[in-house]
Amino acid sequence: MQAPGTTLAIPFVDLKAQYESIKPEIDAAIAAVISDTAFVSGPFVKAFEDAFAQYCEVGHCVGVANGTDALFIALRTLGVGPGDEVITVANSFVATSEAIRMAGAQVVFVDINPLTLNIDVERIEEKITPRTRAIIPVHLYGQPADMAPICALAQKHGLRVVGDAAQAHGALYRGQPIARLADITCYSFYPGKNLGAYGDAGALVTDNAEWASAARMFANHGRTKKYYHDLEGVNSRLDGLQAAILSVKLRHLEQWTEQRRRNACLYRNGIEGCGVGIPGELDDVRAVYHLYVVRVPNASREALQELLKANGVSTGIHYPIALPYLNAYRHLGHAEMDFPEAFRASGEILSLPMFAELTEEQVRYVAETVASAAVV
Ligand SMILES: *Cc1c(COP(=O)(O)O)cnc(C)c1O
Repeated sequence: MQAPGTTLAIPFVDLKAQYESIKPEIDAAIAAVISDTAFVSGPFVKAFEDAFAQYCEVGHCVGVANGTDALFIALRTLGVGPGDEVITVANSFVATSEAIRMAGAQVVFVDINPLTLNIDVERIEEKITPRTRAIIPVHLYGQPADMAPICALAQKHGLRVVGDAAQAHGALYRGQPIARLADITCYSFYPGKNLGAYGDAGALVTDNAEWASAARMFANHGRTKKYYHDLEGVNSRLDGLQAAILSVKLRHLEQWTEQRRRNACLYRNGIEGCGVGIPGELDDVRAVYHLYVVRVPNASREALQELLKANGVSTGIHYPIALPYLNAYRHLGHAEMDFPEAFRASGEILSLPMFAELTEEQVRYVAETVASAAVV
């Protein structure tokens, strides 16, 4: 415990600390790719794809250039295109809805459940029309979306489910990896994600061999073999350096996830009951805490953020504007009352520092600072 009045400098994330902890392994992996000149696709990509599919407990993994492309390619693979509607959640990173528009489809937003800040499964069915083709639940902040009712609705209405697991590597829902519960599940390996590369990278995983090979072909210029192209695709491939780095980091992911969960537990114990809302988990899930997002009611978020800053603690807001209210979606003409929970949450949420390398002392210090604000 630090002396009273001592200020610790606590960054929001610290990618350098993680690199330092595994430097010899990473440096060797990078050197191996360069000496083999296996820069795009190739053996390092194949090795990572196999390991990640196994980690997700599904049959196939296709490495792509980033998580946004993974979503877009998944939708295209499932036949989603112009004239179709895809349902997703009002609270996410813009990439989720962007990918729907990249596929040529219309985005249809659903409000959030205020407990989990994920899609409100009670509000999905009213948004289904004859044009609806797919639902994209987002496992935001590493909290699994409520997949059982989502899969039941998809079954009932003949819809596809594409999971956005960009923030949820390793999350479990009722004992199962979330990737087992959707037709295709998409991951981002952006550096700051729970499993992060040293540049842009992404993947989609599925149990369906046909979808996996169709996605692989589309992501590689629609080619079947060199210079034989069955269709026009895109150039969205995983590169060898990123794959080799990801293979090293995948071996540490479970330990890092447990450290995130320990940090979440320390935050919960230190903050609960002080007037600041803590993240709600569904029953029987393993949340992986990409972010630790608290809720600060009564317009006191900025004050708490300032207090934390004055005490050396960096924070973030994910996200300050819910998707339907972004300028990019102004043409949809949504009003505050269309998504009241998402609208309210965007004014109250605050993300505290969260990464595996945070020490217990640092987490306690942040929690004590939050509690000392005594927001009521
Ligand atoms: C990061 C992220 C994406 C996009 O991934 P990129 O690799 O940055 O393209 C998609 N959805 C969510 C929820 C994300 O957090």
